[in-house]
Amino acid sequence: MVEAGEPAWRGKQLAEALYRQRVTGLDEITTLPKPLRARLGAEGWRVGGPKIVQVFQSKDGTERYLVQGDDGQTVEAVWMPEGDGGESGDGSDGEAAEETPQTRLRATICVSSQVGCAVNCQFCLTAKLGLQRNLTAGEIAGQVLAVFERHGVQVGRDRVNLVFMGMGEPFLNYDSFMAAVRLLVTEVGLSPQRMTVSTSGIVPGIERFAQEPNEFRPKLAISLNAPNDKVRTELMPINSKWPIEAVVDAVRQVKLRPRERITFEYVLLGGVTDQPAHAREVARLVRRTGLPAKVNLIAWNPGPGIAYSTPKFDAVEAFRATLVGSGIPAYLRRPRGLDIFAACGQLKRTVEG
Ligand code: SAH
Ligand code: SF4
Repeated sequence: MVEAGEPAWRGKQLAEALYRQRVTGLDEITTLPKPLRARLGAEGWRVGGPKIVQVFQSKDGTERYLVQGDDGQTVEAVWMPEGDGGESGDGSDGEAAEETPQTRLRATICVSSQVGCAVNCQFCLTAKLGLQRNLTAGEIAGQVLAVFERHGVQVGRDRVNLVFMGMGEPFLNYDSFMAAVRLLVTEVGLSPQRMTVSTSGIVPGIERFAQEPNEFRPKLAISLNAPNDKVRTELMPINSKWPIEAVVDAVRQVKLRPRERITFEYVLLGGVTDQPAHAREVARLVRRTGLPAKVNLIAWNPGPGIAYSTPKFDAVEAFRATLVGSGIPAYLRRPRGLDIFAACGQLKRTVEG
């Protein structure tokens, strides 16, 4: 608005119209004078966010969306309802105490930060796409609004968690990711304490993240996925650039809130990372960090063309028991939307999936 020669408070009016009223056309922004609306239109400005163009519904209530941007490229977002009082979609334990009688919806929304991903983790289907492009801040926040619209989510009434764990590496699109967070906090009214961002361990990104003020800082999850550097480098080539110790050093710079914990995500690959010795090694590793931490275990979800196997249920349980026995909180993330390829690491931009 300032660039258009208008006073700055016109920007506030515009943001109000876009993010609270969620107008779909310039004409609906009645707080702006008509001549200004006409001028913006003539200059080529348009109003609107990314659109849900396809919906896949799972029998467990999960929905996967293809969300389309202006250039026709699609990314995926996922809606995971939580009706059973169990863990939230970010793997944390349920927080029933915060319920109010008006709460109508409890769900976790997972959004993407890039079209594809450049990180090339060997077990992940998104990696197969390579990086197509970054999403803009509006496109990242817009996924959330599109899902809000679809489910009639009302901020303040409903309890919605947000995870930046869809397609892409948020910390390789840092500025847009953080701008989206600020939009969602300032304009939409979401709490950063209900948001979790997951990174494969991009150290410069984590260092910048550590400098963000808590009012705009989501919780942090690190995709550990291996008990040591040797295995991690095989699974996640990025580890040769930023090995575990470098990632942990960067994470230590984050000024955690009271009771806040760092999440270590750990994908269990049958025979490869799910053995009892691995569990003991992970327990030692996590304890050595000295961080208040918890571990989210994710049984590997299969995908076409990836030659790993899903761990046996007993191995998963034993792994969890070893961590818990060593005093490390560990949760098993229940796979969601497996029948529609919406589970972790299955977010490949396919319509056949
Ligand atoms: N790029 C970020 C965020 C998106 S991936 C990151 O890697 O952290 C979100 C989580 O899904 C990561 O912890 C990743 O390790 C996990 N994941 C990837 N592929 C998976 C698969 N096939 N099965 C289960 N989890 C997977
Ligand atoms: Fe990218 Fe995350 Fe998949 Fe690795 S696990 S390829 S960082 S989306």
